[in-house]
Amino acid sequence: MSEPLVIVGNGMAAARLVDELAKVALGRYAIAVIGDEPRLAYNRVLLSSVLAGETASHDIELRSANWWRDRGVTLKYGCVATVIDIGRRELKIANEESIAFSKLVLATGSTPLRLKVTGADLAGVHTFRDSRDVDLLLTLAAQKKRVVVVGGGLLGLEAAYGLAKAGAAVTLLHLMDRLMERQLDAPAAELLKSLVERKGIEVLLNANTAGLHGETRVEGIELTDGRRIDADAVIFAAGIRPNVALAKDAGISVNRGIVVDDCLQTGAPDIFALGECAEHRGVCYGLVEPAYEQARVLARHLAGAPASYQGSVVATNLKVSGVSVFSAGDFTGAEGCETIVLSDARGGAYKKLVISDGRLTGAVLVGDVGDALWYLELIRGREPIAAIRHRMMFGRSLAVRPEAA
Ligand SMILES: Cc1cc2nc3c(=O)[nH]c(=O)nc-3n(C[C@H](O)[C@H](O)[C@H](O)COP(=O)(O)OP(=O)(O)OC[C@H]3O[C@@H](n4cnc5c(N)ncnc54)[C@H](O)[C@@H]3O)c2cc1C
Repeated sequence: MSEPLVIVGNGMAAARLVDELAKVALGRYAIAVIGDEPRLAYNRVLLSSVLAGETASHDIELRSANWWRDRGVTLKYGCVATVIDIGRRELKIANEESIAFSKLVLATGSTPLRLKVTGADLAGVHTFRDSRDVDLLLTLAAQKKRVVVVGGGLLGLEAAYGLAKAGAAVTLLHLMDRLMERQLDAPAAELLKSLVERKGIEVLLNANTAGLHGETRVEGIELTDGRRIDADAVIFAAGIRPNVALAKDAGISVNRGIVVDDCLQTGAPDIFALGECAEHRGVCYGLVEPAYEQARVLARHLAGAPASYQGSVVATNLKVSGVSVFSAGDFTGAEGCETIVLSDARGGAYKKLVISDGRLTGAVLVGDVGDALWYLELIRGREPIAAIRHRMMFGRSLAVRPEAA
């Protein structure tokens, strides 16, 4: 008889785990997925394209209803898991019976942070995480509202771009002195800023939000340096917090995320976590690729095969069309590293490669990201690059010509 395996969360990590399990342990588990969003799992990364009107919402589903059914998966969506009873191996679901498990996987993702400032709970203040948020933002844009996006990281940039493209007047605020400081060095961030501004988005740096104004609805935002910006709506895109409450309430060890070992096992027997809610070796990843790598490892582990997750080399691809950005590994260049830089601000291109001990250890690309995956392979593979070093900057096709090899 198949063992009952319950997954909490019907997001990207959960869908990939079922996919991987179907490959390596078909029939071993009777899988149930409990998700609180009212639709089939979808590609969250593409929400930005939906917001920008480049993709239809129904086209971003990861798998069809038939796909789930064919794999015998019981899908409960629009359902919130509320309590894990570790002793009885049961999961309670709001307004429903409990469900028994022999193995439980937590794939609960993250929640966007709301700044703790006055006015943060006014009407007109939103976040950007799921398809319900996108519907709301599209309504704002259709009404040509003035929108302030707080946060100049990947999410804030995508929200700003999508809203602007959909018709809103957008101001993007960022606390730091450059955009995407966790992925880009100063010249790349400056170039990105000018490319974003060319799309009609106003960008304010060193912008520290002091509070939001308005009676019942937000009317404006004030910065600590006294600047004030009128707004009909404010979108917080200033970070995420892993959803750990379910695990924490059950007594499972949590830190920033749910603490897992190299098999993605939590501190409780037969309970695992992966994706954005998990913390592995002190790191909570906010990107999809690590979640997919974890899904592969966990599926193998659940199939009884040897498998170990060693952490991920993080890479970021900003896919907003027209402003292609890629960053991976040590993009700043730690002491003792060499850097090769190609910079063409007017042409909208910047490329920086970081080399350490004869290996590529980091890369930043703005504009032309055609060779991004090749650079990522080199970084991950830690292969010596001496033979291609002088041509590496010009991309794979030139660097690995037979005579260059
Ligand atoms: C607009 C946007 C753009 C992004 N762009 C990129 C990108 O370009 N590149 C990139 O790498 N990453 C990007 N990300 C991040 C990426 O989407 C996430 O890393 C990925 O979705 C994480 O997968 P997950 O399954 O861990 O979490 P999620 O996909 O968030 O899934 C978690 C699910 O669990 C559900 N859940 C939580 N608690 C419960 C509960 N108690 N009961 C039932 N269900 C529950 C949630 O509702 C959610 O549906 C983007 C994110 C957003 C929002």
